[in-house]
Amino acid sequence: MDDSPPFTLSGRTALIAGASSGLGEGFARLFARAGANVVLGARRLDRVAALAAEIGPKALAVSLDVTDEASVMAAFDSAEARFGTVSSIVCNAGTANGGRSTEVPSQGVRSLLDTNLLGVWLIAREGARRLIASGSREREDGRIILIGSITAMQNWTGDAAYAATKAAVAHLGKQFAKEWVRQGINVNTVQPGWIHTEINDAFYQTPAGEAQKLGQNRRRLQDAESLHDIMLYLASDRSRSVTGGVFTIDDGQSL
Ligand code: NAD
Repeated sequence: MDDSPPFTLSGRTALIAGASSGLGEGFARLFARAGANVVLGARRLDRVAALAAEIGPKALAVSLDVTDEASVMAAFDSAEARFGTVSSIVCNAGTANGGRSTEVPSQGVRSLLDTNLLGVWLIAREGARRLIASGSREREDGRIILIGSITAMQNWTGDAAYAATKAAVAHLGKQFAKEWVRQGINVNTVQPGWIHTEINDAFYQTPAGEAQKLGQNRRRLQDAESLHDIMLYLASDRSRSVTGGVFTIDDGQSL
């Protein structure tokens, strides 16, 4: 089997927010295989340091809390000091609460807004500022990918505020795309379906989780690798004319 990536990221530096587990960890390995320098941002520095050591000298682990503006700026500073301007940015860090709205405390909603909305905004803004300052307008090489969710479009019972933050992310991506359309920066949102990762691991250990999985159209969860081709495309030079898009890649779950 030929597992070489279809799009090259050679010459690019990619920053992945939330690279210590799940989809972000997979994107980090994928982007490195495709030739990018990869900056792995997470609060759990030990985890991203281990991943960077495994990937090799093209990887840099940085401490990153996407809800903290100073931490976001420091992560970009470290990335630039090592590799130069970050040209492919993945706003992947996210969190979920679960639970019915009548039970969820307001602090739970605040933390969702902080991570899933403000965190996306801070990473994208800092990346865009630095791209623009470095001349992305002429190079047209800026690529920002926001990780949304099918919960932005689909209603189900539980974690309503999470779904609302993901709907906001899809809209934010279009707003950013419009703002930076003449700055050489493309912004797109990828909306995955249900994939078994740390974010929902506890749920999938329960009978309700098993029933939800078997209730999907294909009687299964999506696999994380099914996102990889579009992630590479959107992060690469090849997607030069693609901006403001919302791409739902969900194994048919939202049908
Ligand atoms: P995950 O829990 O493995 O990954 C989320 C990562 O974000 C974790 O590494 C976590 O530590 C990190 N993170 C959370 N808050 C952070 C903060 N303040 N600063 C830095 N990092 C922080 O789960 P995942 O499924 O890999 O989630 C990745 C993204 O995909 C999330 O945005 C999630 O909402 C989205 N998503 C997941 C699914 C799914 O079914 N797994 C479906 C649609 C969308």
